[in-house]
This record gives sequence, structure tokens and C-alpha cells, in this order.
Amino acid sequence: MRKLITDHPLISHKLTALRDERTDSPTFRRLADELVTLLAYEATRSIRVEVVTVQTPVAPAQGVRLAAPTPVVIPILRAGLGMLDGMTRLLPTAEVGFLGMVRDHDTLQPTTYADRIPGDLKGRQVFLLDPMLATGGTLVAAFNYLIERGASDITAVCILAAPEGIKIVEDAFKDAKIDIKLVTGALDEKLNEHGYIVPGLGDAGDRLYGVV
Ligand code: URA
Repeated sequence: MRKLITDHPLISHKLTALRDERTDSPTFRRLADELVTLLAYEATRSIRVEVVTVQTPVAPAQGVRLAAPTPVVIPILRAGLGMLDGMTRLLPTAEVGFLGMVRDHDTLQPTTYADRIPGDLKGRQVFLLDPMLATGGTLVAAFNYLIERGASDITAVCILAAPEGIKIVEDAFKDAKIDIKLVTGALDEKLNEHGYIVPGLGDAGDRLYGVV
């Protein structure tokens, strides 16, 4: 797995405000949105393009445009939804799928409760959105879901990651012959006994949408 832990000062600035427990939900949602747009810029560095020529008012100019088929953006519900607008702002023509996964509070094991993703992901570049890479269980399950549908080029975009979770994902796919990338805003210190990232930012879904 290729990893990019961003070190852009604007990302760190917004992340610090996100972590602050005094940040309310509306502000948290706005900051997450802005931060994801910055992460999206990094995550799309290998987006496929094709060469085209356009006519400027002065002369023909060679450039590029996004190649077909369009990329697919998949937020993992619920917290990944808070990252969708920030991502599609840079990729407005992307197709959007949804994957609903929930982590059991005791076992920390993920289960899938909703799936609206294209049946055939062969040849598609997939961007998977999940703010917190904690135990890694959700991401491993989501990657496997996408690989079963033919995906071979997947970039996970996370706001925060824990070393334990990164290791689980790396180990799970170390022999896989697919292109897996991780882009994260920061690498935190560790997980606590409840599977929360330390220092982290708390429960991303609750902070985005309230405790329901
Ligand atoms: N999910 C969250 O929302 N926060 C964590 O710290 C870990 C998993």
C-alpha cells in the first residue's frame, strides 16, 4: 500500500480546529469539507487523463482531460458522508456510490448494512472516503467489497489514521496485486482500549451529525 501522510500547513491548521472539542457541528462540517478538498487534491495526483488539443484565441494548445471511465467516489456511511462534497468539488463528474458500514461497539467488527455501488468496478479509479482509519477493520472489509466487484485501483482518503489500523490494512493486502493507496491528513499516536484514535477527534459521525 502506498501512503501519503500530508504535511500541508493548511491541512494541519484545519485539523487542529477539528480536533478541538469546543468546535460545534456546523463548524466541524465546514472544516471537514474544506480539509477534504485539500486531501482530494493530493489523492487525485494519479488520476487518469488523456491528451487533448484545444484551440485558444491565439493558437492550438495541447492539454489533458479526465479519461473515461469516470472515477467513482464512495463514502462509507455515516461519517464518510461528511467528506463527499469536499471530494466531488474537485471531481464533479465522478460517479458516487454508497457503502453503509457500522462497527460493533464491543467487538469492533464492521458489518455492512447498505450497498449502492456499481456492480462492475473493473478499470475504474475508486476513491473511498472514511474520516477515521482506526482499527482498520472497516477499511479492510470495504476494500474487499470493492475488489470483489473488480476494483484494482483504490485510494482511501482519511482525515486521521492510527498506526495500528495502517498496519492491519497493509498486512491484509501485502500480497494483493492491486493498487491501494492511503491519503491521510495526519498519523496519530495510537488507539485506546475502545478503538478510538488518540488524540484523534472523538467520534467523527457524532461530531458531524450529533449523537443519534
Ligand atoms: N471512529 C471515530 O469516529 N473515531 C475514532 O477515534 C475511531 C473510529
